[in-house]
Amino acid sequence: MASDKFSSLSISPAQITNLDSLGYKKMTPIQAQSLPHILKGKDLIAKAKTGSGKTAAFGIGLLNNINPRFFGVQALILCPTRELADQVGKELRRLARSTANIKLVLLCGGKPLGPQIGSLEHGAHIVVGTPGRVQDHLRKSTLKLEGLKTLVLDEADRMLDMGFSDVMDDIISYTPKSRQTLLFSATYPDSIGQMSRSIQRSPISVTVESDHKESVIEQLFYEVKKHERNTSLLALFEHYHPETAIVFCHTKIQCDEVADFLRNKNIDALAIHGDLDQRERDQVLVRFANNSCAVLVATDVAARGLDIKSLKAVINYELPRDPEIYVHRIGRTGRAGETGMAFSLFTSSEQFRVKSIADYQKKPSICDVPESLDRDPAYSLQSPMDTIQLDSGRKNKLRPGDILGALTGEAGLSGSQIGKIDIFDMSSYVALESSAVRQALNYLAQGKVKGRSIRARKLR
Ligand code: AMP
Repeated sequence: MASDKFSSLSISPAQITNLDSLGYKKMTPIQAQSLPHILKGKDLIAKAKTGSGKTAAFGIGLLNNINPRFFGVQALILCPTRELADQVGKELRRLARSTANIKLVLLCGGKPLGPQIGSLEHGAHIVVGTPGRVQDHLRKSTLKLEGLKTLVLDEADRMLDMGFSDVMDDIISYTPKSRQTLLFSATYPDSIGQMSRSIQRSPISVTVESDHKESVIEQLFYEVKKHERNTSLLALFEHYHPETAIVFCHTKIQCDEVADFLRNKNIDALAIHGDLDQRERDQVLVRFANNSCAVLVATDVAARGLDIKSLKAVINYELPRDPEIYVHRIGRTGRAGETGMAFSLFTSSEQFRVKSIADYQKKPSICDVPESLDRDPAYSLQSPMDTIQLDSGRKNKLRPGDILGALTGEAGLSGSQIGKIDIFDMSSYVALESSAVRQALNYLAQGKVKGRSIRARKLR
């Protein structure tokens, strides 16, 4: 059994201190299994999902290989979605604190090209991006990959699902053959094996348990009639009272309809799917993460890469086609030793999916009917916080401390009434106890933050 101490790795003492300051006391299983190989320069194919610590696994590896004095792109990380790219970028920046002068640039679609080109011209060591936009920059020659040492494909299965296969091939054709290629995937369909064979050299294969311990996630399947999904969904909330939940749907329209339905029943829900623009997505994710939205109704793609610490329940409004996706979905609850609940609604025609999940998990699926649930007719689920949006952000040099200072100073709020503060380029979001929103907005309507008047509104 390999050591799980970071100090057993050949990485700099500064990085070990940095990891300690991040609270990473020992390696997660994916890190312990993959880092010794990654640090030796080997190619790797790893079956691991979000929450396993995979970002730090490839992050620590690729940072170790970067020469800060060479101002060319030395590592490229391709991610399926902007959210995941953002999250990977944030984690890499934390890990890069131990090395001076490392520049990281995010290249995601949905953002203007100009500023990205500007950042690339200033020299970048690491690029994190989505395939379409990275390809755009390669074709324009605004991105050069001749000096690339490490290529990471994160959630490669999802990139293939999203139809990025040709784009990835094209991007790879711009990279040197000598590169190290690290491929991470939550599932291993045949297409992943084919891809690995065509772009990797004798990769080391690592799998971390994708199964969850029975004691941690309680899984229940409810048989419903076709037109009773909504009432059955409500019955689950009224019986189990989860404080937070993700409801998975297949389609964007379904997400909107289910979120509307829940809101009409006094359950604080928001939908997230690919039709939202970047700002709307940011807002939904901020509100879910800062406790001002209790329920997220999401498609698999939109929920991919969400970094949510403690989710009480995962509900499958419909069962996914693939049992691996089921396991991936329910893995979002019962994290870090907490108990989670996973509920799935299915109709008689979907019974075969319940069976294939049982086969896949090698244990029987426990089925019931919603009629068996005691319901609380007075039930409502309101999140404890609300979010206010400020029309000022990073570009205005606004920092969390400035907002906190203004609200706890002149505005007279207590620190405990203020939750998470998220700063974006042009705006910021502050979670407040619902009872403190009026006081904060009244202050902001007249008072100043960092000497400037700022417009604020409550998100609804
Ligand atoms: P990931 O699977 O990369 O999305 O990581 C999941 C979460 O685990 C992130 O919030 C990381 O900051 C955190 N993390 C990664 N490695 C460690 C570690 N060795 N110890 C504690 N937390 C970690």
